[in-house]
Parts: sequence; C-alpha cells; structure tokens
Amino acid sequence: MTLYDTHCHLDLFPDPGSLIQEIEQKGIYTIAVTNTPSVFPAMETLTKGCRYVRPALGLHPQLAVERRGELPLFLKYLPKTRYVGEVGLDHVTTDRKNRAHQRHVFDEILKACHGIRNKILTIHSRRSEGDVLDALGDNFPGTIILHWYSGSLRNAERAVDRGYYFSINPAMARGQRFASIMTCIPPSKVLLESDGPFVTAKRQPASPLDMVSVVKSIAQQWNVSDEKATLQLSQNFEHVLKHGVKTA
Ligand code: MN
Repeated sequence: MTLYDTHCHLDLFPDPGSLIQEIEQKGIYTIAVTNTPSVFPAMETLTKGCRYVRPALGLHPQLAVERRGELPLFLKYLPKTRYVGEVGLDHVTTDRKNRAHQRHVFDEILKACHGIRNKILTIHSRRSEGDVLDALGDNFPGTIILHWYSGSLRNAERAVDRGYYFSINPAMARGQRFASIMTCIPPSKVLLESDGPFVTAKRQPASPLDMVSVVKSIAQQWNVSDEKATLQLSQNFEHVLKHGVKTA
C-alpha cells in the first residue's frame, strides 16, 4: 500500500471529479467524509466505480442543530457504507441547548453504529474530547479515529488506552502542540488525513495528494526515515481495514 487519507471533504472542492480522477490514478486510499446525510447519495455517485475512494456518511456537529431533521436519513443510509464521518461534538459554542442537541444527534449515531458494528468512524472533538470519550463509552464495537485531535494529553491517554486511532493533518503537523501529542500516541495508532479543503498545505487547500508532507513531519517526530514512517503508517491503515472490530 502507498499513501491514504482518512478524512477529506472531496465534495467541497471546486472540481471533485478531477480530484477524484487524480487520486485514483495515484492510488491514494481516501475516505470521503460528508457533513450532512442528504449529500451522501451525491458522494456515492461521485465515487461509483472508484477503487481507492470510499464515501462516508456524516452529520457534522456544527450542523447538528440545523440538520437534526436528517437523522432518519442517516439511519437509512448507514447500511450502505462502512465509513462514518464527519460526526462528533464541537464545544466552540457555549450555548447549552446547542450542545445538548449535538449530544443527542451524536448519541443516536453511535447507537445506530453500535447495532451494526464493524464501522470505521472519523470523529470531530474540538473542545469536547472528554464528552466524546464519555459518549463512546468503554466498549464501542467499531474503529474510532479521532480526527484533528486538539484536546488534553490526559484525554489522549484515555483514548490510547481504548485503542483509538489519531489522524494527523498538515495543520496539526505545523502546530505547536504536535510534538507533545505525538509522544502520547503509540506509532501503531497514528493515521494520515488532509481535512481538505479546510486545512491548507503550501497555501492551497490540502488534499489526499499532500500526504507526503505529513509523513515527513511524523517521521521527524519518530526520528525515523520517511520510508520507515510510510511503512508504519501503511500498516496502521491496513490494520484498520482488515481488523475493523476491536474485540474488547
Ligand atoms: Mn473535517
């Protein structure tokens, strides 16, 4: 396996079709996250016949209040994909009602995934990682990827104890906390993501094509060669795909 991207908003790029073509040509496995269930069918159509790009079903926490009416759609589409995201909680808002709605939506999503099992979830936890961990509980029967983790080191350790993965993007790799967070995460639990087009790389929206630079940053932190880091990161993703369910 070469490189991959576990969290990219392909549908929000100006020309998703040509980007997908390039990803397919280069063979970069990509989880195409979505922010609302109503756009999932369009993503399914866009990625039809793709070898490397997989559509994910999501309901972004910052849209959870406005789009909570789409929860039934989420449940309807859930059997169609193994990939769930972007979902989670965002506590940038201090509005209690908004947070409560977010939590309700997230709980319903987790409950549904719990029933089907074997899902791979890419989760947003800005200023809310403790609540995200509480919502997930100790024995969630699926693979959890904490996307763009920016929480405390203590909660990172809680997540590590549960076997969760952490996906690293170009903005994180440039950030001041990168070194300290990387010391908390075992190398076998680190994955790659672009979070494009929200994150930039070389002043452009980051895409799956930019994962080489993230590998280099990770290799530096691990103090290993780029080749060795690539191998470890590839094995991690293969493990996610093949051994989806964590047997607690
Ligand atoms: Mn995202």
